[in-house]
Amino acid sequence: MQDRRTRVVVVGGGTAGWMAAAALVRLLPHACTVQLIESAEIGIVGVGEATLPHLRAFLLRLGLDEAAFMRATHATFKLGIEFRDFGKPGDRYLHPFGAFGQPLGGIPFLHYWLRLQAEGEGGSLFDYGVANVMAAAGRFAAPASDPASPLSAYAYAYQFDATRFGPHLRDFAVGQGATRTEGRITGVERHPESGDVAALVLENGARVEGDLFVDCSGFRSLLLGEVLGEDWEDWSHWLPCDRAVALPCESPKGEIEPLTRATAMPSGWRWRIPLQQRVGNGYVYSSAHLSDDAAGDAILAAVDGAPLADPRVLRFRAGRRKRSWSHNVIAVGLASGFLEPLESTSIYLVQAAITQLLELFPIDGVDSGDRDAFNAEIDYEYDRIRDFLILHYHASTRDDSDFWRDVRAQPIPDSLAEKLALFRRAGRLQRYAKGLFFEPSWIAVLIGQGVMPAAWDQRVDAVPFAALDQELKRMRGAIAAPVETVPGHRAALAGLGALA
Ligand code: FAD
Repeated sequence: MQDRRTRVVVVGGGTAGWMAAAALVRLLPHACTVQLIESAEIGIVGVGEATLPHLRAFLLRLGLDEAAFMRATHATFKLGIEFRDFGKPGDRYLHPFGAFGQPLGGIPFLHYWLRLQAEGEGGSLFDYGVANVMAAAGRFAAPASDPASPLSAYAYAYQFDATRFGPHLRDFAVGQGATRTEGRITGVERHPESGDVAALVLENGARVEGDLFVDCSGFRSLLLGEVLGEDWEDWSHWLPCDRAVALPCESPKGEIEPLTRATAMPSGWRWRIPLQQRVGNGYVYSSAHLSDDAAGDAILAAVDGAPLADPRVLRFRAGRRKRSWSHNVIAVGLASGFLEPLESTSIYLVQAAITQLLELFPIDGVDSGDRDAFNAEIDYEYDRIRDFLILHYHASTRDDSDFWRDVRAQPIPDSLAEKLALFRRAGRLQRYAKGLFFEPSWIAVLIGQGVMPAAWDQRVDAVPFAALDQELKRMRGAIAAPVETVPGHRAALAGLGALA
């Protein structure tokens, strides 16, 4: 009998390509066949090392074993991102994967805390986050399954060696039936009438036909950008960083910190991502404000271990293709757009696109309604993340370099201006129905960078001050005490059998 499954061709074998191939072949084996083309000669970006908690759901859904994945990719646990020197030099806060405190009588915790702050009481907001307290202590445990436990109100993600993640997924995907073809794509054939992509031609002359093409070719955007000419929406006026210099170094002795760190620098910021055997570092900067050589010198001077390679410069632009799905081509990953890694969002965006693709997978040809729905979802995700990233620069009082003066002076998108105005006035946050970064994330960055609302929810004043003070002290204690019983990060990795 004729095989009527949709022939999917995935272009590119970076993180995006192998995530897409693994998900399609594992979850839609009855609906599609999957062939992936990659070129070792071209290589992959290979620096995406910090992730968000959503990746856990992806691995689980595919049925991948957590400990085996962590051993294969030299992964560590991540409880959040610590931002240093962003609001002003000397500032430090952790944007956790979790909430702060508990609501009382249906009123969000933040409002109680704001009232105590006005009297100089209540302590730091960040003492009410389980993930914050655990990360600061260098400890790690998976969240308790009992929602009544104080150790349940957080999530976790991974930090891993990006050059190992693709191969781990490749072994899995090929084991599930995906085909892998090595070779450089040098030609693309299109249907004369529809303009759809019909086949790819490789350097060795081989021809690969397909029904649906998933463009994971990285920044080059081979099919969506180069062949279909999909327009680019540029966001570099809001997010001017356009380069990074990456530098892995040896791990310092002692505990592995269960967090990613982002430290503001004179012309951008630098990341520090601890893995099992090394630390990933990189300086993300604006080439209008800093030369590549000066950035290389700055990262060499900043790292806290012996360098393991020469500094490597990567170039990019903030923005996205106007549509990620055009004709029968769906771009996933860097081929669709890029937002700087300040909040570790790229692999999340890969996952979001794959989730939509699985849901809207075309069985008998592409339906334009499904394609529009896909593009609307991806736009939504990008726009939300964009605003959240801009916030980190806008909500700063740094005045010590041209870069910081320039980014602070930039007008911000209306969507962000409205959100900020509401928070400043009344400590309230517009709710997002879906996507990334809900209230606790915004609160972490706003309060962490010194943006204090002018007022709090008036209902809070009905509670006697002493009772409130007592209750918040109890909440802090209910986090600090059990965290003391949690193992150190390295012991937690060993306990799970996750050490390579
Ligand atoms: P790539 O890794 O570039 O893969 C492209 C693939 O296409 C390769 O296999 C290549 O061989 C193939 N290819 C291209 N052209 C051809 C051709 N003509 N023929 C055949 N094959 C071809 N993300 C995070 O989530 N967290 C982070 O902390 C993070 N940090 C980052 C830091 C920097 C500086 C940068 C630049 C990115 C970072 N990212 C991060 C993003 C992350 O690296 C990417 O989202 C992720 O690696 C996916 O990349 P990709 O697979 O789309 O592209």
